[in-house]
Amino acid sequence: MNSKAEPRIDWDALNEQATEWLSEYIRVDTVNPPGNETRAVEWLGSILDQESISYETYGATKDRLNLVARLHGDGSGGKALILLNHTDVVPFEREHWTVDPMAGEIRDGLIWGRGATDMKGMGIMELISFILHKRHQLPLKRDLVFMAVADEEAGSTYGAEYLADKHPELLDCEYVINEGGQGTVEVLGVERPTFNIGVSEKGPFWLTLRTTGAPGHGSVPTLDNAAVRLVSALERIATWDRPLIVTPEVMEYFQQLHDAGIVSDQPTESMLASLAEQHPRLHSLQTNSISLTTLNAGVKMNVIPAEATATLDCRLIPDYDPDLFMRELVEVINDESVEIIREFESSTPPSRLDTELYEVMTAAAKSHVEDALVVPSVSTGFTDSRVFRRKGITAYGFMPVLLGPMEVGRAHGNDECLSIENLRMGIQVLHETIRGICS
Ligand SMILES: [Zn+2]
Repeated sequence: MNSKAEPRIDWDALNEQATEWLSEYIRVDTVNPPGNETRAVEWLGSILDQESISYETYGATKDRLNLVARLHGDGSGGKALILLNHTDVVPFEREHWTVDPMAGEIRDGLIWGRGATDMKGMGIMELISFILHKRHQLPLKRDLVFMAVADEEAGSTYGAEYLADKHPELLDCEYVINEGGQGTVEVLGVERPTFNIGVSEKGPFWLTLRTTGAPGHGSVPTLDNAAVRLVSALERIATWDRPLIVTPEVMEYFQQLHDAGIVSDQPTESMLASLAEQHPRLHSLQTNSISLTTLNAGVKMNVIPAEATATLDCRLIPDYDPDLFMRELVEVINDESVEIIREFESSTPPSRLDTELYEVMTAAAKSHVEDALVVPSVSTGFTDSRVFRRKGITAYGFMPVLLGPMEVGRAHGNDECLSIENLRMGIQVLHETIRGICS
């Protein structure tokens, strides 16, 4: 980055502002369901108003708006960079928290509350850098877009999917930076600051299985018991021996960890297979996984049920053809009377590693943390990046912080928090990244 042309920025003052904003943002109740993300849009909008930045809102209902603000570049650098963040958060069980999940408490160098890491914290990092561009009139060779979307935590019907459907022109861009890759102070149990760049996600493929049969008196068993047929089908699925599939991105992740001395053995398929045996997450990364998540049948002890249902949370290897998986599943179930309902699915190709933005992110992270590793990562979960990747747009998960033991793994859990230091690092690395790709 051409730092000479950049203005002096008071990072201390900025971090104080960011800390206050994140605390305030956490207090804006956008628990989804029901969402009410318009509250977040109003809150973000009031800050943009103060900064004299115009924005538009879009939404299917007045309670669930999305916000898009754009700073125009001269276009010489190509299409826009979108800073994507979702404004909703998942519900919480207050009794299991040691702090008020909605208070945005600041204590012990940490900002506490639902959304601190997923992902209001990153929303603030994006917002700050976006605002800096306006405040300092930083030159832009491409448009810079701040996009705050609703409903990510419940399938994005009112958020990214809504925009893709009703306002596809808003998604037109070259790059997206989103959640889905974050740093930690250790990797695979070895202490080493490691930034993950999310390049790929498994594809959700959510299914309901349904069987029906003749109901009757429990004293007279029939061969047509809906529950029994469902259980038999589930038994065949549970014992279905599926091959491990190692994608190039997963292999690259382990190769880079090997090159850095984190993993001693040269990664091979058999080495990854043995890791899969020890770590459920590493197993999931290498297979079309199936979790049985709900099971329902029957109304009374002595009544044979007329219907039984089960839901399966399947996650396909990135870019795996859902129709192919469906055919395999039907063959395994081997019972045509079992109805399979496709509830939700997404299959997207990975984003490439050989882009300018990937290089810029890597350089920005390393310039802040000298001995940092920056590795490509594949997520077992999914984010709104899918909406862009399926259009062939390069989208990366990049929350450039180094989560410590207090912060890691708290997303969707209890006592979610983000350190003030991480907020500061996130803002600076993200800003340097944006300058690198936009100036
Ligand atoms: Zn999230």
